[in-house]
Amino acid sequence: MFEPSYLSLHKSGVLAQRAELLNSMLSDCRICPKDCRINRLNNEIAACYSGLKPVVSSYCIHYGEEPFLSGDKESGNDNGVGNIFFGNCNLRCVYCQNYEISQNHKTEIKNEVTVERLAGIMIELQFKKVNAIGFVSPTHFVPQIVEAVNIAASNGLNLPLIYNTNSYDSPEVLRLLDGIIDIYLPDLKYSEDEYGYSYSKIKNYVSHSRDSVREMYRQTGSGLITENGLLKRGLIVRHLILPNDIAGSYETLKFISELDNKISLSLMSQYYPVHKALSVDLLSRNISEREYERVFEWMDELNLENGFFQEFESQNYYRPDFIDRAEPFKR
Ligand code: SF4
Repeated sequence: MFEPSYLSLHKSGVLAQRAELLNSMLSDCRICPKDCRINRLNNEIAACYSGLKPVVSSYCIHYGEEPFLSGDKESGNDNGVGNIFFGNCNLRCVYCQNYEISQNHKTEIKNEVTVERLAGIMIELQFKKVNAIGFVSPTHFVPQIVEAVNIAASNGLNLPLIYNTNSYDSPEVLRLLDGIIDIYLPDLKYSEDEYGYSYSKIKNYVSHSRDSVREMYRQTGSGLITENGLLKRGLIVRHLILPNDIAGSYETLKFISELDNKISLSLMSQYYPVHKALSVDLLSRNISEREYERVFEWMDELNLENGFFQEFESQNYYRPDFIDRAEPFKR
């Protein structure tokens, strides 16, 4: 049986040391590239509106992730991912589908929990037999998450951990997640900083997000480790295609292809305008089928071998061949 590597870090005490080190970074917060330098240990808040306690807006079993995360009926492993949605965010995307929890900090404060409760949620989801635990928008709460994983590991947590991020992460912080996170799921949102600022209020998104993906790749490589058709360790880069090519898809795919053309890429077609995007001309419509196909063609042109893609209408994922070619787990 596959054993997540955080369990050995837990036994050796390294996980506790990492949690301590990460917690100390909250006193002069540089947990993400916003580099606010405020003392979150004293509950000071800045760009992500988050103090010391983690904010858990909701948690649930999610069946719509990529096929070898959620599982599929054909393989009989469709138990879903136990997703934990963190409130607040370091980005302010005008089209955020979760804007009610990511940009509603006055309401979200009521969802603050202790790290012990966060650990309890992981155990509760494991008890429901999910395939993995997914941390959704985890960036601004990494120290609290690591502390909670350490507690949960003492209480029997043994599922792979997924880090599902907007990629505006600090490489220094990601290095401290080496051996703790099993599966990285970064979204690469833009290829032009100007759009990152206009539509997500973030500076230098392109270089920061690419540095983050490079660090994730350093940890996992492009190989995927599976067991019984489920991903246990690896990197899947996501890319949400935006209308009018606001996401700069060609350049994003080119970056991935130059890093390693065997990196798994998940092309997402589900954009629809919500929140402030309804009044932004360039973002106020769904993407067209042609826009999706064109990115798909670029994937081929750039020789990206391992793509997940969706049926345009249903947004169901096709099961790509490379899943069956992924390396089975060997002790
Ligand atoms: S985690 Fe929050 S407070 Fe810390 S640097 Fe990022 S945005 Fe600023």
